[in-house]
Amino acid sequence: MSLLEELYRETIMQHAQRPHNFGSLEGATVKVGGHNPSCGDQIELYLKVEDGRIVEARFTGHGCAISQSSASMMTDLIRGRTLTEALELKKKFKAMVVEGRPPAPELGDLGALQGVAKLPARVKCATLAWNALEQAIGQIGEAP
Ligand code: ZN
Repeated sequence: MSLLEELYRETIMQHAQRPHNFGSLEGATVKVGGHNPSCGDQIELYLKVEDGRIVEARFTGHGCAISQSSASMMTDLIRGRTLTEALELKKKFKAMVVEGRPPAPELGDLGALQGVAKLPARVKCATLAWNALEQAIGQIGEAP
């Protein structure tokens, strides 16, 4: 394993073992559940949105290190972003893990998941939280 791969692995394990923003969120604007039956991953994503900006993002759930670390890093990254910015980050994350593009610098620690692009069976683990995010933002968009 290269030094870079070891560093990535460590980042993923740290987030999986001690996930950031873990727990339900009182007064959430929207709550969305996501499930990846092929691996058994499950998350509930909670967003608090004010004036089109995500002021708080939390999640609960369980599953493999990839799914949980992705949710942990994602909730770190989207806090303080507008809904449009969050969707832009989602596109960049998917370009990395689905299309195998090099990680956009804005993705920060999430770049640690770039190796998932070479593991097709794990792509759904990495994108679980992001699909929940997209669904949550869609629900907010439809709200009056
Ligand atoms: Zn998984």
